[in-house]
Amino acid sequence: MSAALACNKPLSPNAVQANSLDEKANPPMTQEALVQLGKTYLYPNYRQPDLVMVRGEGRHVWDAKDKKYLDFTAGIAVNTLGHGHPGLTKAICEQSKRLMHTSNYFFTEPNVRLAQKLCDATGMARAFFCNSGTEAIEACLKLARRHFFDKGETSRQRVIAFEKAFHGRSLGALAATWSSAYREGFGTLSEVSHVPYGDLDAVRQAMSPDVAAILFEPVQGEGGVVPGSVEFLQGLRAVTQEHGALLIADEIQAGVGRTGRFLAVEHSGVKPDLVALAKGLGGGFPIGAMVCTKALERSLPAGSHGTTYGGNPLASAAALAVLAALDNENLVKLAATRGKYLTKRLNALKQQLPEAIEGVRGVGLMVGIALNAKIDTREVLGELRTAGLLLTLASGVLRVVPPLNVTESEIDEAVAILGSVLSDK
Ligand SMILES: *Cc1c(COP(=O)(O)O)cnc(C)c1O
Repeated sequence: MSAALACNKPLSPNAVQANSLDEKANPPMTQEALVQLGKTYLYPNYRQPDLVMVRGEGRHVWDAKDKKYLDFTAGIAVNTLGHGHPGLTKAICEQSKRLMHTSNYFFTEPNVRLAQKLCDATGMARAFFCNSGTEAIEACLKLARRHFFDKGETSRQRVIAFEKAFHGRSLGALAATWSSAYREGFGTLSEVSHVPYGDLDAVRQAMSPDVAAILFEPVQGEGGVVPGSVEFLQGLRAVTQEHGALLIADEIQAGVGRTGRFLAVEHSGVKPDLVALAKGLGGGFPIGAMVCTKALERSLPAGSHGTTYGGNPLASAAALAVLAALDNENLVKLAATRGKYLTKRLNALKQQLPEAIEGVRGVGLMVGIALNAKIDTREVLGELRTAGLLLTLASGVLRVVPPLNVTESEIDEAVAILGSVLSDK
């Protein structure tokens, strides 16, 4: 078996253990041995199951024992195009040979073209690139504070965020993240007030002249897949306008087509001042972006913020390939129709299993299944995995976020597996 993968050759379907490493330096290992290695050397801040993922194709991944899984996690709503999309792998392959990194001391063609495409797609004027969702939030928060600092409003630093919100794990983004499980032990963070999601009166009460911005997810992801109502999102826009504060949409999980619109805020017609993007934008390649309106283009002057890797040509080429596939394969529209189909099938399953399934909610291909409180959701997740379906949990809710090019028959297969596992509950 040849280990090194040629850039221009498809991955052999029988290449069970094949990886792209040099085989002499890394002789093939069993799944058990690799798991052991991971448990010995990786920092134990996650709780992976005892398996090793080896390869992926479309909506499927295989472990080192060649067990096949239907992947409806999409790497936490990241693999927009599924696994091994030829347009994406080709772009990464070719750009890696041409030019991988230059730093932001220079323009590169993939990066400036991506900035233009992203501004066009979001109706914004400027794009700043970074490497993750957290960094995109950090850029939004820093921009908001600096914006008011430059206007002489130096005390305007507070941010209103929402209960159950997730915005990332740097100290700034963590301050805006709601759950104490994420914040415990990291000390006093920056000024953020958390109010109940969906409660406009609470937002109005929390407003004061020291509020720089309201930061919200149009559909809460980690908080349990909770869509914000049109009235609520429009209300946030109105309140920030009244008070001269900025409105920041965290579209890191819901954006880039997942809800059936390029941005999830489009469902409400709301135009925020700043948008944070990441996850789905690179289709698996790390990238984050902050896009903003023309009015904010001078709020972070040259030298005030930056990153070494952000917007490097390789990440930009990957994101361009994702955006091209969204267009060429009509994936945003497909996310809407397949999302409707998925929700219809899950609601039918709920009718069949009213004891197990409490509710199905979501927008497009961002769907949550709330189970009866007596059911151990972690156990369900494991049983689904054994049956060949990968899902993740979001605040105890089963989160269904397949690639946007998922087929109806794959949805049928996933629903059948869910049905067989949940019918025992
Ligand atoms: C994942 C996520 C983040 C953090 O992104 P990272 O890339 O993990 O830093 C922030 N906000 C939302 C809504 C997310 O889903």
